[in-house]
Amino acid sequence: MLQLQRDVSLREFNTFGLPATARYVATIDSEAALLEALAMPELRGLPRLVLGGGSNVVLTRDFDGVVLRMAIRARERLADDAHARYVRGGAGEVWHDFVDWTLSQDCPGLENLALIPGTLGAAPIQNIGAYGLELAERFAELRALDTTTGEFVTLTRETCAFGYRDSLFKREPGRYIIVAVTLRLPQPWQAVTGYADVSRTLAEAGIDAPHARQIFNAVADIRRRKLPDPMELGNAGSFFKNPVVDAATFAALRERFPQAVGYAQPDGTSKVAAGWLIDQCGWRGKSLGKAGVHERQALVLVNRGGASGADIVALARAIQASVHERFGITLEPEPLVL
Ligand SMILES: Cc1cc2nc3c(=O)[nH]c(=O)nc-3n(C[C@H](O)[C@H](O)[C@H](O)COP(=O)(O)OP(=O)(O)OC[C@H]3O[C@@H](n4cnc5c(N)ncnc54)[C@H](O)[C@@H]3O)c2cc1C
Repeated sequence: MLQLQRDVSLREFNTFGLPATARYVATIDSEAALLEALAMPELRGLPRLVLGGGSNVVLTRDFDGVVLRMAIRARERLADDAHARYVRGGAGEVWHDFVDWTLSQDCPGLENLALIPGTLGAAPIQNIGAYGLELAERFAELRALDTTTGEFVTLTRETCAFGYRDSLFKREPGRYIIVAVTLRLPQPWQAVTGYADVSRTLAEAGIDAPHARQIFNAVADIRRRKLPDPMELGNAGSFFKNPVVDAATFAALRERFPQAVGYAQPDGTSKVAAGWLIDQCGWRGKSLGKAGVHERQALVLVNRGGASGADIVALARAIQASVHERFGITLEPEPLVL
């Protein structure tokens, strides 16, 4: 059923805890509710913002339009084939709870992505990734409303054109409203433990042949140790993407800064650790007004209390300027800045 509210504070709906008001918020719990919302005369023609958990947005102003809050809940185990198990969920499923549920269904494969905030429906937008795994590696297809035609469509992995924190949805913002996602979990399951933090945590616990649940718990432990809980300190996780540079640029960087942290990519480029670049510029733990850089993780910008979206953006720009001046590298924000 469609629920429509007017003049709604969005502070509770974004993990930075930034102040902003929306003219309308429509809570969407079914495909029918979505169609009903889009057909309402008072909403037609208004700017739209689709929101899941609000964990990857920076709200810099009031929104004179309609926020569509995705609350479609559904979990389904589909038929297996010879090579994989398949699970499907509604866009409003809480990602971490969905991952937990897949494990309880004996469908391992998503455990490295434990504890990422937000919803299942938002996971394809930036092709979420962590601890050696990206969503794209477990993605089968999704169902979305194409707002340019008003039709529901099925988009495959190829069509979604996933890249590092990137997808079709970033290139055509607002066109598709995702209502359900199907994931493909390869069989036989193989542990992904190449990431140093994960292997170290498992080794410290004396686990040398981990089950998926043990990896899930290890990842959750690491994340709780390293990242601030948005309920206590507003943030949107990593604020910048790790810049990808060509081999010559990385070699030149290493020549000047032998400690530079980077990861070689299969195509010969290198992903430079943005956190290291920011740290080198002395930003870790610093503040600019009410916005700050987290003490333990320089990649995470935080709301120290009462910050506005403009404060966060001002800090982000200052960091970008420092990194560019020192390293000649441009940092690109990860969240949607509205
Ligand atoms: C503490 C913390 C840690 C994090 N760690 C990670 C991490 O390890 N890896 C990672 O990749 N990300 C991470 N993030 C970022 C964030 O959790 C993910 O990007 C997540 O997928 C966002 O989900 P959401 O539901 O909150 O999306 P929102 O913030 O609500 O929306 C994000 C974008 O997706 C769009 N969108 C949302 N739902 C839909 C839909 N159904 N259809 C169409 N468009 C939609 C929105 O319009 C917006 O552009 C972290 C964030 C926090 C706060």
